[in-house]
Order: sequence, then structure tokens, then C-alpha cells
Amino acid sequence: MSKIGFIGLGNMGTPMVLNLLKHQQQVIVFDIDPKNLKVVEKEGAMVADKVAAVCKDVDYIITMLPAGEHVKQVYYGAQGIFANAKPTTILLECSTIDIETSKALHNDAKKQSFTLFDAPVSGGTAGAKQGTLTFMVGGDESIFNKITTILNYMGKNIFYAGEATAGQAAKICNNLMLAVHMIGTAEGLSLGKQLGLDMQKLYDICNHASGQNWSLSNYCPMPGIMPNVPSSNDFKPGFMGKMMLKDLKLAEDAAGSVDLDLPMLQKALALYQQFCDDGHSEMDFSGIVMSLK
Ligand code: NAD
Repeated sequence: MSKIGFIGLGNMGTPMVLNLLKHQQQVIVFDIDPKNLKVVEKEGAMVADKVAAVCKDVDYIITMLPAGEHVKQVYYGAQGIFANAKPTTILLECSTIDIETSKALHNDAKKQSFTLFDAPVSGGTAGAKQGTLTFMVGGDESIFNKITTILNYMGKNIFYAGEATAGQAAKICNNLMLAVHMIGTAEGLSLGKQLGLDMQKLYDICNHASGQNWSLSNYCPMPGIMPNVPSSNDFKPGFMGKMMLKDLKLAEDAAGSVDLDLPMLQKALALYQQFCDDGHSEMDFSGIVMSLK
């Protein structure tokens, strides 16, 4: 049994911790919003009142936070992870964040003899609940094997992406693809609806034709077709619109850093910016289907 500190018990962190508990791991958790700790506490997690208290005597610390600024808040300062963890504790940074912050974390971890991996995930809240997430890991390959057992408690596909920050880079590329096929899927289904097609039939056809993709098959944005997806639950997240907007901005920064002009990225960014400006930033990102007139 490992002792695991876990920080960030939101839509993803909560089901990830439930899976660690299911595998008999000892987990100590912290979130700035104490109400987010109730579910995992009921299932046996220990609750800490600050980041520093999570760091004591644990084998791993996992962070699952919204963005780079939140990750910096928990890593740095007198109460942070770097100042309070033992150097033998392995640090697994699983949030989706900017490459610059991830690079700084790797550099500062190295200076203080910590082992740190960037290990963002894909698979959504359903994947987090079912323990089928895909992890994309960046860091020292020679010790990658040490972390696969823990990651396998929460995921099914654990990829070594490459050196420090390669996991974040892969995740940013993945979510650019996700945004574009979610919008394309929403457009195709909306057009079918306006043309008077039976929605279930159109879904079945496209799912067995060249329009098939993850947004259609696993996360259908048109309400009432798939059970247990945000579109059939009033677009309750899931993955919030503001998170997708953040990830598209990360992709824009990354593309800018290598002088690449990506027109579909720009279009997707504009559409998710509008979606958030229209007051839907906390709605699931598949709700973009509702903004097609
Ligand atoms: P969320 O907003 O639901 O959860 C984030 C949690 O972090 C919240 O409970 C919040 O209170 C907590 N938090 C914020 N700042 C904190 C701090 N300083 N100290 C302690 N806790 C703090 O977000 P989420 O949907 O769980 O996403 C988390 C990360 O996973 C994001 O980077 C997101 O891009 C990524 N991700 C999300 C999904 C998804 O489907 N939701 C899928 C893949 C990756």
C-alpha cells in the first residue's frame, strides 16, 4: 500500500481519489473548497487543512488543479510542496497547464532533488470514474516504471511521452483535436436536426461511417441520444467551457512558440471565447451545440 497526497478534488480529482481508495491506497487530500472533500472523506480519505499537511510522509503527491497559476500556488512558498515534501516523495502533476510553468516546476524539482513528472490525463469525468484515463507522462524515463502501478489504479493507458513537459505538450495537441471535432460533431448533428433527420438514426449512421469520432461516440453533444453524458444532464460538467478555452489558449501559445499558423485552432478559440462570454463558462464544453443558431 502506498501513501498518497492528493490536491484538487474537483470534477476529475474526486473520482481519481475514489479509485485510489478502491485499490486500498492510503490517501490524504486537500482542496481550498472544503465541501469538495466530503465525498472522498466518506469513502475513507484523510482530510488535511493545508497543502503542507498533505506533504508529510507520503510516497506520492498528485495535483489535479485548474491551471498553471493554481499549481504554482500549491508548489511554491513556505506552505507549498517544495518546502514541505520529503525529497523521496514522487511528484505527479496531472493538471493541464502551460508548458512554461511545467518547465519551471521540473527545473525547480531537479534543483531540490525531487522526482517530478508531468502526467496530464484524457478521458473525461467518465474515464476518471471508470478508472480508464489515458495518462501522458513527461520526465525521467529511467524511473517511469516506478509510477505506472499508481497511475494504473486511475487509468488504463499509460504513455511515456518523452522528456520533461512532453506530457503537457501531447495533452495540448490532444485537446486542440478534441475542440475541433466537438464543434464539427455539434455542427453535423445540428444540420441533421434542421434537415428533419431522426437524431438516433443519424447518430447510428455516423458512428459507423467516416464521421465517427470520440466526441460523437463517447460524448455526444446532442441531448437525449446517449445516457450519462453532460448533454443528457443539462450540460452539467464534465469539462467546463472555461477549461476548454484555457486549453485552446495553451495551444495558441504553443503554436506561436514554433511559428505555426493553425486556422482551425483560431476558429475554435473564437467560438469557445464567445461561449464563455455568453455566460456558459461553467457549462460543459459540449454545450457549444446550443450556441449554433
Ligand atoms: P475543477 O475546477 O472541477 O477542479 C479543480 C479543483 O481544484 C477544485 O476543487 C478547486 O477548488 C481546487 N483548487 C483550485 N485551486 C486550488 C488550490 N490553490 N489549492 C487546492 N485546491 C485548489 O477542474 P477539473 O475538471 O477537475 O480539472 C482539473 C484539471 O484536469 C484541469 O487542468 C483540466 O484541464 C484537466 N482535465 C479535466 C478534464 C475534465 O473532463 N474535467 C479532463 C481532462 C483533464
